[in-house]
Amino acid sequence: MPANAIPRIDIPFDKRHTCWFCGEPCDQYFDYHSQPHSPHPSLAVPSCSECGKLAKQHLLTSIWDCRMAVKDALMRIYAKHLAIGINWTQAELAESEFSCKVFEGFKQSAWMMYQIARERINAPAWPIMLDGIAIEDQGHHLDFEFNGIRYSSVQAAIDYFSSQFSVDKTFLAKLVSVVGKARFSYALRLARIHIAATKELKRHILAELQEELANDR
Ligand SMILES: [Zn+2]
Repeated sequence: MPANAIPRIDIPFDKRHTCWFCGEPCDQYFDYHSQPHSPHPSLAVPSCSECGKLAKQHLLTSIWDCRMAVKDALMRIYAKHLAIGINWTQAELAESEFSCKVFEGFKQSAWMMYQIARERINAPAWPIMLDGIAIEDQGHHLDFEFNGIRYSSVQAAIDYFSSQFSVDKTFLAKLVSVVGKARFSYALRLARIHIAATKELKRHILAELQEELANDR
């Protein structure tokens, strides 16, 4: 390593040649040049070429913000693959009546594509250490899990599902804020049921829900 190179983070033995962002095999590094406001020094993390390209576009304010943005970008890029797991279960896919060759191929590859996309988005990054000294992640490990997929935030999940099911994003966000993120699936169901509802009806539903929950307390 040249003298002026950015220091590489410590890599656990079982993570050698693994992308810090998505867990795929990799043989490159992504250099994060710290800014005056960065909460950590410049550092280099192992990265696959896809994550490295995405990371360059989303430097934000720290390597952890950058990582969240990479995950969100992966989620957008692989939205169709992730949708396979939302629209089908593995058993359904195996039992489905798809008998011709085309569908046979789909069955075999579809679940695998879903699994790969899911694993990459869920892949946990190991804590950052430079020469044995840990760098505090300042709470950036907080994320949101729903239906077996880890989203960088509740907002990322709202963005994803509103585009996946073509539901009104603002309405879904309001529903989640009323019922709470623990009941995300309930909020999503309500948003899907009322996909064609007018603005007035949506307002009415939110008001009713708020009243109902207030009475429960
Ligand atoms: Zn990667």
